[in-house]
Amino acid sequence: MMKFYQLPLGSYAANCYILKDEKDQCIIIDPGAEGEKLVQFIKNNELQPLAILLTHAHSDHIGAADEVRDAFQIPAYVHKNEEEWLYTPALNGSDMDIPFVQREAEKVIMNESILTIGNFTFDVLETPGHSPGSISFYFREEGYLFSGDVLFKRGIGRTDFIGGNMDALMNSIHHKLFKLPLNTVVFPGHGPLTSIEDEIKNNPFLKNI
Ligand SMILES: [Zn+2]
Ligand SMILES: [Zn+2]
Repeated sequence: MMKFYQLPLGSYAANCYILKDEKDQCIIIDPGAEGEKLVQFIKNNELQPLAILLTHAHSDHIGAADEVRDAFQIPAYVHKNEEEWLYTPALNGSDMDIPFVQREAEKVIMNESILTIGNFTFDVLETPGHSPGSISFYFREEGYLFSGDVLFKRGIGRTDFIGGNMDALMNSIHHKLFKLPLNTVVFPGHGPLTSIEDEIKNNPFLKNI
């Protein structure tokens, strides 16, 4: 059985998720900030990280990528459409603030695919709209969906940042995410967990479309 931890990090409280298997190997989704705290958490729990997965490359989701990589020597995965964003503050949204520059990703996801890392096997779904390289990670066996800033509990991602597109976002939600089994647990990039069924029924931004 897979276990998860949810750690809201940084001033935007972006959810970092750690998924671990029975052998305490883990993958880290969106290490957004507070690298020292995150590294300490991983060490305290005696976890063995295998990789970093990025749902997208906005600064609130990537801020601790270098610190975690330095601590554990693991690769980071990002979609090709946001490869440059990791080290380009004007793209990752940090140019008005403290500029965020992370190292380039070791692994670039070129298209929708099924990835296996250690004991973790999951579908990479391309779900653009909030940003052009937004991807969601779907763990079929567990029924878990990591949706980044595409879909939240009772909310949807903003589309007013660079590369945002409302039509694309709606398409991603209705034609990708809402096609998943109703009981899929949704782990969003901000805020509490939800389910596909709950959002189809109750998300005020998506009703009657
Ligand atoms: Zn974002
Ligand atoms: Zn975010």
